[in-house]
Amino acid sequence: MHLSGFRRDEPLERVLGACQGRASGPLVIAIAGIHGNEPAGVVALRRVLRELVPHAQTLRGRFVALTGNRAGLARGVRGVDHDLNRYWTRASIAEARSKAPEARDTEQKELVELAEALEREFARAPGPVTLLDLHSTSGPTPPFTLHADELRAVELARALDVAALFGLEMLLGSTLVDWTHKLGHTGLVIEGGQNEAEDTADHHESALWIALAHAGVLDANALPDLAAHRARLTRAAGPTPRALTICHRHVIPEGERFEMLPGWSGFDPVREGDMLARGGPTLEQELRAPYDATLIMPRYQGAGSDGFFLARANPR
Ligand SMILES: [Zn+2]
Repeated sequence: MHLSGFRRDEPLERVLGACQGRASGPLVIAIAGIHGNEPAGVVALRRVLRELVPHAQTLRGRFVALTGNRAGLARGVRGVDHDLNRYWTRASIAEARSKAPEARDTEQKELVELAEALEREFARAPGPVTLLDLHSTSGPTPPFTLHADELRAVELARALDVAALFGLEMLLGSTLVDWTHKLGHTGLVIEGGQNEAEDTADHHESALWIALAHAGVLDANALPDLAAHRARLTRAAGPTPRALTICHRHVIPEGERFEMLPGWSGFDPVREGDMLARGGPTLEQELRAPYDATLIMPRYQGAGSDGFFLARANPR
């Protein structure tokens, strides 16, 4: 499968674009492709920049669009040597920086460059920054968000009107959004849909416009398509609950295999005992749902150590 609008052989800049408004205001940063097999965010950011750059002066504050794992994007792989979205701790960044450039692995090179670009932006920001981290999944899923349990992130997630997942960032601990949160800024992962699905870039694009209006960088009244973007994202989220908390993570042990049973999608309800996947050194283990829950991010043909997650809707 292939996503139209993205070509691996095209040169890809670290800074896809930046728009500086004449009036002072907040800083919003969007990052695409921190996983190299998730190019839909690049397509969405190019679309938004194409519309925004000619009117940049009318913005309040600043919008910057960055690429994540450029080496991974060029090869179409999640990571070349490592998962770039598991490197965002102070110790990992310091370690990458302490190495000679030629001694760094592929993702350490990306990490050093991207951390520098982000720190430069954070340093000039007038207040807390909003960072939007655009992702997609190996299996089909309606769009959803992941974020720390922090008021500004929760409000932004609510403005997007898609399922907001609580608790995952805390489980992982070394993601870009987690690092952003620890520096006192607001970070939000926006999962747009399946990696190669054409509407994933549409969902990212709509989420970007809504987030820019929510942050106050763009005047909502000056955005004729904002209502259409809201409607598109709400429609894509469908009947999924709008707030859930992760209650189970299936980690694939090192050296073991993992195969989801065909046919599962993100946000499918599962019943206790449902057969979800096979695991173990020879796929001899049956992996069943330990209780009734909602299935999140079933891993199909993808890399990474997470097989699937389960979540439960928050009480309203
Ligand atoms: Zn991702």
